[in-house]
Amino acid sequence: MPLIIITGLPSSGKSTRAQQLHAYLAERIAAVTPPNSPPKYRLHLISDQTQGISRAVYDLSPEHLPAHVRSANASEKDARAALYGAVKRVLSPRDIVVLDGMNYIKGWRYQLFCEAKNMSTPSAVLQIGCSVDRAREVNEARLARRAAAAPTLSPTETSRPTENSPSSTGTEETNPPPTQDPITTDNNNPPPPDDNDDEPYSPSNWTNLVFRYEEPNPMTRWDSPLFTLIWDDSPAQTRSTFAALWDVIAGAAAKPIRPNQ
Ligand code: ADP
Repeated sequence: MPLIIITGLPSSGKSTRAQQLHAYLAERIAAVTPPNSPPKYRLHLISDQTQGISRAVYDLSPEHLPAHVRSANASEKDARAALYGAVKRVLSPRDIVVLDGMNYIKGWRYQLFCEAKNMSTPSAVLQIGCSVDRAREVNEARLARRAAAAPTLSPTETSRPTENSPSSTGTEETNPPPTQDPITTDNNNPPPPDDNDDEPYSPSNWTNLVFRYEEPNPMTRWDSPLFTLIWDDSPAQTRSTFAALWDVIAGAAAKPIRPNQ
């Protein structure tokens, strides 16, 4: 079953929508599973948080780059490799994968699209639409909360990790590593809220990510079908978008994909 790639600006509400989508899909899977049978599909939610990836890996600011770090985006490449591995491990005809993240590089979305195609399973993109100003407010509120919780740590000290300490953001003491399997969540146990979801981006990291964001283009194969949810979409509108998504990936409109298509 398919891969759903979530995309959107930093702090635009992606994880919130990903969790709503996860709950919706679990409901639909339960509805198509005969009584006393195992779930027809397995459901997975994969994100930076489930993989223990800090927001700081996206920080290319020279002032946050320790001298000995290999290159400006080495840690981001490592993070993408971890996410790719996690998707690849579970993607199969019986698995629906929701990949929650910025997924802001079109070449990366293309790579994911090819991976789904190799598995003969469909992919779709769900864009979380949010104004830049609103997304910035969310990040600033997170920075303020983080500063209030740890008065000795200034927001700009949420620096990128060093090579010896890949997630050294100053947050480990308050966010211990997850004790359960970090890769997947199953249908009956939606992901628990995680304090790490609240991790802010440093202001320069956030601004650079907005600048680097590559909007999905529904005219390309890898960004289609493209679904969009905006911040103010009501629960009814959200469910209707999720229903259209389900139809394309698992319902009446789902088409078998051949690798050479
Ligand atoms: P991201 O995953 O993009 O960093 P989150 O989903 O964690 O963003 O959301 C950031 C904050 O905005 C959270 O406090 C969340 O509760 C709130 N939020 C997200 N989407 C909405 C929405 N559509 N309406 C109201 N609040 C939202």
